[in-house]
Amino acid sequence: MMNSFQVDCNGYYGNFGGAYIPEILHKCVEELKINYLKVLNDESFQQEFNQLLRDYVGRPSPLYLANRLSQRYGCKIYLKREDLNHTGAHKINNTIGQILLARRMGKTRIIAETGAGQHGVATATVCALMDMECIVYMGKTDVERQHINVEKMKMLGATVIPVTSGNMTLKDATNEAIRDWCCHPANTFYIIGSTVGPHPYPDMVARLQSVISEEIKKQLTEKEGRDYPDYLIACVGGGSNAAGTIYHYLDDERVKIVLAEAGGKGIETGMTAATIQLGKMGIIHGACTFVMQDEDGQIEEPYSISAGLDYPGIGPMHANLAKQNRATVLAVNDDEAIKAAYEMTKLEGIIPALESAHAIGALEKMDFKPEDIVVLTVSGRGDKDIETYLNYNL
Ligand SMILES: *Cc1c(COP(=O)(O)O)cnc(C)c1O
Repeated sequence: MMNSFQVDCNGYYGNFGGAYIPEILHKCVEELKINYLKVLNDESFQQEFNQLLRDYVGRPSPLYLANRLSQRYGCKIYLKREDLNHTGAHKINNTIGQILLARRMGKTRIIAETGAGQHGVATATVCALMDMECIVYMGKTDVERQHINVEKMKMLGATVIPVTSGNMTLKDATNEAIRDWCCHPANTFYIIGSTVGPHPYPDMVARLQSVISEEIKKQLTEKEGRDYPDYLIACVGGGSNAAGTIYHYLDDERVKIVLAEAGGKGIETGMTAATIQLGKMGIIHGACTFVMQDEDGQIEEPYSISAGLDYPGIGPMHANLAKQNRATVLAVNDDEAIKAAYEMTKLEGIIPALESAHAIGALEKMDFKPEDIVVLTVSGRGDKDIETYLNYNL
């Protein structure tokens, strides 16, 4: 089971990962570390998780052969349709898994951080489903930018707390959630929304999202007679949809992994979220990974037109994949992502989330052979981004 690209028994991916946490959280994180594999592998958990994924989320999500997009890029492109999930993105796979775990650990209070509000909505949704108290920390800037998602969380019964420290965005919301956790360690479960944070979160989130690559294997076998593609492409913010997409292929060298990070206005402009290419080793939110920081080690504010990708860190799994050259990392700029979204909408009638548009924007930067089989994960749908698309002057 263990191999060089999966987490090791100390919580590291190569030199990345670990659990750098304040003393007061030690017990919480240790409790989680002791329990998560036991629970995730437990038969009753598996049964409840899989049933909810099927009947509540709508899985398996289709693997759709995009004919016109394939023609355009001269290869065979399949889209993994996470945009068709309940709540409109892959995030719900993870929140369902974590809330089932929280319940089994006897926790009664759920907290979460959110940037664009997608993880906040996915968390508030499962809290309504499971009748649990839900508190979502969200930067004040994002509360204003992502009004509809705030309304949704409220209707779902969550308390949304606007965070006014720092830039008032995702990084600050995460700091505040960690602070809350420190104050209520006994009854509170912190549902983290991506493959970030202290061990075991990155591994736990990757496992819960790995249903994506499990399905790709089955679906490709049916459609192509082989269970692996030549390329896997996904966008990376913290890394969870990418981790889910590649999980069962990490050690399959026949499969090339392409990660699309947000170039923003261009990686040389200072207005970018290309953390893997520009970040330096540092510690952010409990993990050692690439972090956007200045010469004094101060975290630099990332920028991307997509609120789901402007995180100044990156999951330790992905940092290691890049470092070991297992993954190719491409920066896709705002304008390239928007152009790609319009192209996919026109060719396939699918409006992708702005985040997913970065994965589509990577296609143009690659050279394919006609026989190449490409699986690209559409992490979410674009409903939340329509205004941004229409207001952008290409
Ligand atoms: C949150 C989000 C992302 C980025 O998060 P990852 O953890 O990197 O997957 C990408 N796409 C959509 C639609 C999202 O909501």
